[in-house]
Amino acid sequence: MELNAQEAALAARAAAVAESRIAPRAAEIDRTEAYPWDHVATLRDEGFLGMTIPRDQGGHGASYLDAVLVIEAMARRCAVAGRITVEANMGALGAVMAYGTAEQKRLAADLVLREGDKPAICITEPDAGSAATEMTTRAERRPGGWVINGRKHWITGGGVSKLHLIFARVFEDGTDQGIGGFLAIRRGEDEPRGLVIGARQHAMGVRGIPETVVDFQDLFIPDAMVLPSPGGFRRGFAALMDAYNAQRVGAATVALGIAAGALEHAVAYAKVREQFGRPIAEFQGLQWMLADMAVAVDAARAMVHRAARSKGPNGFPDAVLAAKAKILAAETAVKVTNDALQVWGSAGYARDNPMERLVRDARMFTIAGGTAQILRNLVAASILGTRLPQTRDGWLREAARRTAAE
Ligand SMILES: Cc1cc2nc3c(=O)[nH]c(=O)nc-3n(C[C@H](O)[C@H](O)[C@H](O)COP(=O)(O)OP(=O)(O)OC[C@H]3O[C@@H](n4cnc5c(N)ncnc54)[C@H](O)[C@@H]3O)c2cc1C
Repeated sequence: MELNAQEAALAARAAAVAESRIAPRAAEIDRTEAYPWDHVATLRDEGFLGMTIPRDQGGHGASYLDAVLVIEAMARRCAVAGRITVEANMGALGAVMAYGTAEQKRLAADLVLREGDKPAICITEPDAGSAATEMTTRAERRPGGWVINGRKHWITGGGVSKLHLIFARVFEDGTDQGIGGFLAIRRGEDEPRGLVIGARQHAMGVRGIPETVVDFQDLFIPDAMVLPSPGGFRRGFAALMDAYNAQRVGAATVALGIAAGALEHAVAYAKVREQFGRPIAEFQGLQWMLADMAVAVDAARAMVHRAARSKGPNGFPDAVLAAKAKILAAETAVKVTNDALQVWGSAGYARDNPMERLVRDARMFTIAGGTAQILRNLVAASILGTRLPQTRDGWLREAARRTAAE
């Protein structure tokens, strides 16, 4: 589906900002691994952070497709700026805007729109990655609130994010009530006691955003900061995770932007690099590579836009379309960046040029936010009409059922 005039104008404006303000520092950010606060200010001042926040909360009420257009433009020039734009429009912010109390929405909108916050979402634990519901971080009832203990890791924004959406297993009177979402704000001096930012996990790519261990040591969360779970704690995790479908579309878009940027670099180089007395773009072997890259990028973009326009439960994108978009865009980014590096030959392999950074940047998207295998499980279940076990107990029950059937 074509973009309307307003969407095309937004994409063009974002591309111009990315070219003039974001692109010049992409290599330096990768080298220093420092969080780009200047880019945060640029993105905020341009109205690109919190653009999906409803108008009555002070945002622009932009659609997910609008956000996707901006994210692709940023990621084409700098994956770090792309990811910041994702997390300041989707993820934890989306969950709060959909389910939060009036005060929680006000707080989150204020942090993102005024302070340029990129909220953090804390799900993954050292022993609970793909099997997220195996998490052992506990929230126990105390008068007036909850006390949280446990460890998360690979938390994007650890040490720079202010708003944290923490998922923990909820216990009341010693009984497991399910999984709930809890909000904590870490803001300089106001650092909540018990929210401890641990070691940085040095990543292969997209190095300008820290991923860290985050520990909760008797972290007290008042009742007012419990994110209301539709259906209560028992059924709430699934509903809260619907918000993650938007995050997945956002991650797919960063991968798409990286691939599109790599293709641009490959085309530009092929036109100027000469071998055998002619530009290498004249060799059919390379033309077919470039054509395949263009086909893959266009297909990924179509899938990402379709997912962004879709409407699943609670107003978030459809889960299966979001999974398909992330699989396709992430794997396209891995392939296209590698092929683009190949077009550059030895120059592509050099650290002075952008191609090796793009290869590293692309690599995270088949892993973070649901691996390509886990997302394929979701797509397979949707076409087979089956439901894969989501927990260790579920897998054990499934194994027992199969054994009994044999
Ligand atoms: C850069 C980056 C940023 C991240 N940011 C965040 C964040 O902000 N917040 C957060 O909570 N988490 C974050 N994560 C964690 C991320 O979501 C997890 O890495 C991901 O869910 C996979 O978990 P795992 O790494 O423990 O892999 P594992 O679950 O241990 O998987 C290992 C391998 O087994 C495969 N596998 C596992 N189960 C199955 C199955 N049932 N069927 C088929 N294959 C299977 C996986 O696909 C994978 O290939 C981030 C990770 C990265 C790399």
